[in-house]
Amino acid sequence: MKYQVAIIGGGPAGYTAAETAGKAGLSVVLFEKQNVGGVCLNEGCIPTKTLLYSAKVYDQARQAQKYAVGVKEVSFDLPKIIARKQKVVRKLTLGIKARLTACGVTLVQGEARATDARHVECGGEMYECERLLLCAGSETFVPPLPGTDTVAYWTHRDALECKTLPQSLAVIGGGVIGMEFASFFNSLGTKVTVIEMMPEILGGMDRELSCQLRDLYAKKGVRFLTDTRVTSLAQTDEGISVTYENGEGASSLTAERVLMSVGRRPVTHGFGLENLPVERDGRGRVRVDARMRTSLPGVYACGDLTGHSLLAHTAVREAEVAVRDILGKDDTMSYRAIPAVVYTNPEIAGVGETEDSLAAKGIAFRTVKLPMTYSGRFVAENEGFNGLCKLLAGEDGTVLGAHILGNPASEIITLATMAVELKLNVKDWNKVVFPHPTVGEILREETGVVINGH
Ligand SMILES: Cc1cc2nc3c(=O)[nH]c(=O)nc-3n(C[C@H](O)[C@H](O)[C@H](O)COP(=O)(O)OP(=O)(O)OC[C@H]3O[C@@H](n4cnc5c(N)ncnc54)[C@H](O)[C@@H]3O)c2cc1C
Repeated sequence: MKYQVAIIGGGPAGYTAAETAGKAGLSVVLFEKQNVGGVCLNEGCIPTKTLLYSAKVYDQARQAQKYAVGVKEVSFDLPKIIARKQKVVRKLTLGIKARLTACGVTLVQGEARATDARHVECGGEMYECERLLLCAGSETFVPPLPGTDTVAYWTHRDALECKTLPQSLAVIGGGVIGMEFASFFNSLGTKVTVIEMMPEILGGMDRELSCQLRDLYAKKGVRFLTDTRVTSLAQTDEGISVTYENGEGASSLTAERVLMSVGRRPVTHGFGLENLPVERDGRGRVRVDARMRTSLPGVYACGDLTGHSLLAHTAVREAEVAVRDILGKDDTMSYRAIPAVVYTNPEIAGVGETEDSLAAKGIAFRTVKLPMTYSGRFVAENEGFNGLCKLLAGEDGTVLGAHILGNPASEIITLATMAVELKLNVKDWNKVVFPHPTVGEILREETGVVINGH
């Protein structure tokens, strides 16, 4: 069995590479050991956002009177929320399979292992290829804490399947995944505590906005323990005891459930990496160049496996770049404008540089901050709530970054992403006509402030 392209892993990186190569007329074999769609479709981006949307609808229904709408009884059905999530996942994964079939990709179900740069073994069969793409993704990192081997803690997978609402939940790790689950369970009424080792939640996002989001969730009843290190877990009759240390000394709390969400790391086993003499960095991650080539000719790596950003949209773009290189087209990967979104309610999103990163690089910049209530549409749709939009521009007016707290930050950030990636100057961006009334208009207002200086 000979193919021009063999791909290990059917997540966003793998299925995008397969579809792009298949559409271009290459013969492609894609190996997937679990479900096509990878973490993103089956247990990541899509299922979390489906659950969060149910929580958002529930929140909105409870607050409907703010908009002069009466709703008599508001309730939720957790098993049905989970069932709807399965339905959404099934629909999307079937869609991906159909697209792969339509462009002639051979999908092989099973655990694949590269035996060298030109051969992959799967299910007792040997497949020969001209180019090999490694897209095996990442896995949950579980810190070696005393008690993790005896306590039935949750990972995101368990949280996504939860059909009985826990009374209390301790979330270890206040990153994106931790905060999204904290938001979901807080909306449904669980007593949530977020324990974060760093001084602030959502490391890497704009610090001021992260702090504002934390304050908002604290008002909604979430307890935050920042600058706090979990030291052990233990099962007790009352639940799981979480022992921690912070500036105030050692202490503990007990929760019915504990969600482990301290981070993810690239997979390094199970797909034959040991048979491929590719260069790796100090942390064992496969090194790639701007065309996603590894140091081994004909072998590429894309997606979470490279450890660049651990986001699905990065994986998709990296896969496109790799296939374009295979096709002899000139394309390179840029990490200048990778948007990051936290789908809490309200959402928080950012792209490009932060004030902290610019200060660390010694780059002179100007910050324009506007309350979200500058946008008429935002005021119309967000009774009694404000947010913040921040635009960072270089001294010459080049857009360097943007950070938004307020709905729908996840949608508006795309405008700023284009500006940062294309190195737009605020003067050019300001000439673009934005539709009115939209929340995104706030970015145009900010370009005006940079230009006119007030
Ligand atoms: C709870 C959660 C929420 C998330 N939310 C978001 C979000 O909102 N936005 C976002 O951008 N990102 C989000 N992510 C991250 C996103 O899911 C990943 O960045 C994305 O899935 C990476 O794609 P990938 O193709 O590199 O790897 P993966 O999606 O991990 O896919 C890798 C695939 O390779 C397969 N595989 C591995 N080894 C083998 C083998 N030997 N043989 C055959 N198959 C193999 C695996 O089964 C898997 O299907 C979230 C992640 C989690 C856990």
